[in-house]
Amino acid sequence: MNASLNVRKKRPFIIAGPCSAETEEQMMDTAQQLKTHCSIDVLRAGIWKPRTRPDSFEGVGEVGLEWLVNAGKLLNVPTATEIANAKHAEQALKSGVDILWIGARTSVNPFAVQEIADALKGVSVPVMVKNPVNPDLELWIGAFERLEKAGIKELVAIHRGFSVYKHLRYRNVPNWELPIALRERLPNIPLINDPSHITGKRDLLEEVSQKAMDLNYDGLMIETHRNPDAAWSDAAQQLTPENLAILLSHLVLRSNEVSGSLNDGLQDLREKIGNLDDRLFEILTTRMQLSQEVGQFKKENNITILQEAHWKNVISSRLEKSTEHQLSERFIRQLMDALHQESIRHQIRVMNPPKNDKSK
Ligand code: PEP
Ligand code: MN
Repeated sequence: MNASLNVRKKRPFIIAGPCSAETEEQMMDTAQQLKTHCSIDVLRAGIWKPRTRPDSFEGVGEVGLEWLVNAGKLLNVPTATEIANAKHAEQALKSGVDILWIGARTSVNPFAVQEIADALKGVSVPVMVKNPVNPDLELWIGAFERLEKAGIKELVAIHRGFSVYKHLRYRNVPNWELPIALRERLPNIPLINDPSHITGKRDLLEEVSQKAMDLNYDGLMIETHRNPDAAWSDAAQQLTPENLAILLSHLVLRSNEVSGSLNDGLQDLREKIGNLDDRLFEILTTRMQLSQEVGQFKKENNITILQEAHWKNVISSRLEKSTEHQLSERFIRQLMDALHQESIRHQIRVMNPPKNDKSK
């Protein structure tokens, strides 16, 4: 099958299938269950698995490609697998896999991405690129540029979250602002959410999938296994095909189009918000003028800009207020840090004006 994905022809576009191909029987059985329970657009399976530690299951390798292709035939949908180098690309294409994806541990490495792009020159195959493990938008965009230059026409972005040292709620932090910025920069590249690798836990898949739909993602990639608890990789986050169907049936799909009377209804609220933003600007300007006065005072009295004990008190008193105002602690922390940075910038200008500053 020479697949043209046309991701945007259906919303949500669903990519499902196991984290890893394990045995021929597991692939066929999972495909059969998918066929019984839900309608999907692409069947996925990992053949070569990049694993964090050695001595874990690193994929069945080339032998699994045929199982994936046959399972795709059973479902009559295109198939996709992860490639990490030119050899994987060649073997996957030779076996008839329709779509390739570059994993998070590969998209982080420009040499590896370039090697893959070179191997795909002149080949007509859709390529999906997962975000790099670190939250670096330019690196993600760079991977698309390398593939585009190699002549790849159909590119898709997959948001799978970003690695952190300590896992809190999710296995990989979503940093939603990054994929939103990606869509702003590359609006023609469809955006798929991968709640499996973001959450790491099947109980959280639905809330993240719904959020992705509400942020107007084009589709979802969800790991699906006939017997998730017995999976050879990523057991905790996989779903049975039956539970995938239930998850999909729960999703509320909202329209991105705002027209006519709907627009009028929103207009009023948006105007009110715009007015409040104007007031915020005025407040911010006044606040920074006060920072400049503080800078002047510190300069005259020869004291440092940063006063750690004072700043610590400011932060804790503002954080205490966050709940009372129904604002998240994370937001208040980010807001206060941003205000502090800007205030420092204003104080520095007063204290150490740039040599060529005409405003002095
Ligand atoms: C996967 O999709 O199974 C996988 C290894 O993903 P990621 O590159 O997002 O870790
Ligand atoms: Mn996985």
